Amino acid sequence: MFTRHRTKALFLKKTNQGETNQVFTVYTKDFGKLKVTAKAIRKIKSKLKSGAEIFYYSEIEFIQGKTHKILTDADLIRKFRKSLPQMQIAYKITRALDDLVKGEEEDKKIWNLAIETFERLEHNREIVYYYFFWNLLTILGYQPEVWHCVSCQKKLIPLNLYFDSGRGGVICKDCFTMQKAGKEISPETIKILRIFFKKRWTILSKLKINNQYKKSLAIISEDYFAHILKANTI
Ligand SMILES: [Zn+2]
Repeated sequence: MFTRHRTKALFLKKTNQGETNQVFTVYTKDFGKLKVTAKAIRKIKSKLKSGAEIFYYSEIEFIQGKTHKILTDADLIRKFRKSLPQMQIAYKITRALDDLVKGEEEDKKIWNLAIETFERLEHNREIVYYYFFWNLLTILGYQPEVWHCVSCQKKLIPLNLYFDSGRGGVICKDCFTMQKAGKEISPETIKILRIFFKKRWTILSKLKINNQYKKSLAIISEDYFAHILKANTI
C-alpha cells in the first residue's frame, strides 16, 4: 500500500492536465515545495475542490504514485484570496518562492516566513512582498551587504551610493567610479532594506514610503532577483 503523508500546505500555482486533472505547486510545512496532482478535481462532485485552490492554506494528504504525487485530501484552514490587490501581491510572492526555492526539502524558516507573509497580506501592502522577498534571499544565503561597501569594506556614508547585484551589495561612490557597475540607491532605500533584514515588522507596518523610494526598491529588487536567477542557471 502507498504511504499517506499529511502536512500543512500553501497552494501557489495550478495548471490543468488532461480533461479533469489539475497539477498544483504547493509549499508544505514538512516536505518543502512539491507538485501534487489533483485527479478529477474539475468534476463537479470533486471533494478536493473545497480545499485545493490557489492561495488556500490547507491541511493536505498525498500519496507518492509511481511517477508523481497524488493529492488525496485537502481540508481548508484559511483562504488568502480576498481582494484583487491582495491577489496581485500574492502572485509576486509565489513567483519568488517558485523561482528561488528549488527541490523538495523541508525548511521551517521558509515555511514560517511564507505563512506570516500571507497572513500580513490582509494589509494589502506591497511592502509585504518586499519583506518576504529580501528575507527569503537571506534564508537562502543571498543577503546583500548593506552596511559596508561590498567592494572596499568601508562603512557606508549615506551619500552617493550604488547597488551592485553582481557583487552582492551596496558600493560607495569611489568604487562605483572605478567599476562602473551598479544602480543608484538612495540612503532611505538602504534604510528600508536594513529594517527588512532586522525583521522589524512593527516599524515597517507604520512606515510611509514615498513613491520615489518604492520605485527604487522595485528596481533594486528586480535587478537582484534577475541576477540570482541567472547565477543559479549557469
Ligand atoms: Zn567602496
